Amino acid sequence: MGFVPQKRKKWRVRRGLSNTLFLEILIHFELVELKLEGSGGYVIAELSEDLAAKSKLVPNIDKYFLAPVGKLEEKNMHKYFCNKCESEFDGPPKYQIEETPNEQIADGLILVERGQYICHQCSSIIGEYRMFENK
Ligand SMILES: [Zn+2]
Repeated sequence: MGFVPQKRKKWRVRRGLSNTLFLEILIHFELVELKLEGSGGYVIAELSEDLAAKSKLVPNIDKYFLAPVGKLEEKNMHKYFCNKCESEFDGPPKYQIEETPNEQIADGLILVERGQYICHQCSSIIGEYRMFENK
């Protein structure tokens, strides 16, 4: 008697697994790992293709920049390089919040936060960020 529900359960688990795999493949294709240049070094980060396109200031040159992509999440920053230390570090740099003005820049666009990415070792600035919100 208990055999039929058990069989059903198995099927559900299998479907769940394949859904997860499908999601992972989608996410894998959407993200790209890039070297983003800042004023005092660079950050190696994983970005969506939309953000990657934003970080490219000059369309024909394969150079990417920190400033246009907003505030990156810590988990997406894998490594950074500090020009002052002349070395690469594993993991994300530190955030240093400059101001949180909540100031309207353009129609419906608000500057929420402005700050820098700084080196864990020597506290020099790796690059800057600005975080916007659409209202
Ligand atoms: Zn440093």
